Amino acid sequence: MTHQPFDAAAASAAYNNALQVIASVEPTIAGAIKAELADQRSSLKLIASENYASPATLLTMGNWLSDKYAEGTVGHRFYAGCQNVDTVEQTAADHARELFGAPHAYVQPHSGIDANLVAFWAILAQRIESPTLAEAGAKHVNDLSDEDWIKLRKALGDQKMLGMSLDAGGHLTHGFRPNISGKMFNQHSYGTDPETGLLDYDEVARKAREFKPLILIAGYSAYPRKVDFAKMREIADEVGATLMVDMAHFAGLVAGKVFTGDFDPVPHAHVTTTTTHKSLRGPRGGMVLCQPEYADAVDRGCPMVLGGPLSQTMAAKAVALAEARQPSFQTYAQAVADNAVTLAEGLMKRGVKLVTDGTENHLVLLDVSSYGITGRQAESALLDAGIVTNRNAVPRDPNGAWYTSGVRIGTPALTTRGFGADEFDRVAELIVDVLSSTTPTTTAAGAPSKAKYVLAEGVADKTRAASAEILDKHPLYPGLELS
Ligand SMILES: *Cc1c(COP(=O)(O)O)cnc(C)c1O
Repeated sequence: MTHQPFDAAAASAAYNNALQVIASVEPTIAGAIKAELADQRSSLKLIASENYASPATLLTMGNWLSDKYAEGTVGHRFYAGCQNVDTVEQTAADHARELFGAPHAYVQPHSGIDANLVAFWAILAQRIESPTLAEAGAKHVNDLSDEDWIKLRKALGDQKMLGMSLDAGGHLTHGFRPNISGKMFNQHSYGTDPETGLLDYDEVARKAREFKPLILIAGYSAYPRKVDFAKMREIADEVGATLMVDMAHFAGLVAGKVFTGDFDPVPHAHVTTTTTHKSLRGPRGGMVLCQPEYADAVDRGCPMVLGGPLSQTMAAKAVALAEARQPSFQTYAQAVADNAVTLAEGLMKRGVKLVTDGTENHLVLLDVSSYGITGRQAESALLDAGIVTNRNAVPRDPNGAWYTSGVRIGTPALTTRGFGADEFDRVAELIVDVLSSTTPTTTAAGAPSKAKYVLAEGVADKTRAASAEILDKHPLYPGLELS
């Protein structure tokens, strides 16, 4: 299932003219933009967090909306003359609420990380600030005296968050050290069952009872299964936690009604955050959806952690969300999930070990250790052969987060190109060819290297030729020609 049909002649003219204008100022950049399209067209893009936005979405980002400051919210701006940005933001928020059935949508975050920061501060404000404010007789944090601020800072400190561990597929922004969330929160994590690799809800409940987090966070970037958000909400309610779901990776499956009922996070979570550029296939950006009681706090994202919104990106979010509200997007999302199953089966029947032995979403996590190589070697060898993936730790990974033992692959991008079951089975075959033709080199000490490898002669060329054949049958942006 490809993009909605677009006028290829109009899109070609738009891009050729734009590139001509850019080249007249800085030809290097016009060249890099052209080269990026060529690269994207000619590689098998299996990165689970990437996609191809539609020409309409992409074209919406390059214009004078970018030149407007619009801090604040619709109808309540700190700058004059925001009537067009109001139209843009209102349209994007309306589409988001309708698409996800959410009571409130905040479409200003510039990225997934920003969306999470907005959500964290909104939850802290809602849960911690109010009692402190009431005690101090203040309405808003700005009204607090210095003395009350000290009290508030103490109340904010050492708040607890419980989220999925990194090596089970959680995300850096869910309380891990290299990210500000890991400094803001006292974080504990839940993992997956060592036997099945599946999320163990009893363990989550046990840890939640013990740890009593303010925020229970669910969502992942490398877990290949559905999550039961109704169960997560029950656990959160039992311990008085706010349930925050970060659906950055799988928002497209929610939008496309592949994840419904207990597996749709939006009705169960107090606050849901997402990116808009992964399976949702929109512009690079973020978004927060929430229940009414968190709406005011979420809308203070600017100025709490954001400055002026990227109005051109909010406009592109509106376009992409309008596309996602079409029935064709549901067909696309279902194809993403079906293709992931085909890919998983294609790999397993050829002997590849997958974390959880399968998939229920858009991604598959390969454990490549049986090939005697690390994730890093697999990633590099696959890239040599024109297959773009990323290495990823597997649960309890003996090679750590840098070398890893895993490779994460996903179906959203190639499904946008129109790949179906036959193509994904062939992709599985090509991946296995490369993995089984890759051997680590030996270090001076006689041990296998974790980084260096040899890909058997001819395999890269053969694989590139085989992928070119499939890619040619499913052109990216058919009819779009750059001169
Ligand atoms: C990708 C991702 C993010 C971060 O998104 P950016 O736009 O790169 O900041 C946050 N959370 C999860 C779960 C993700 O997968």
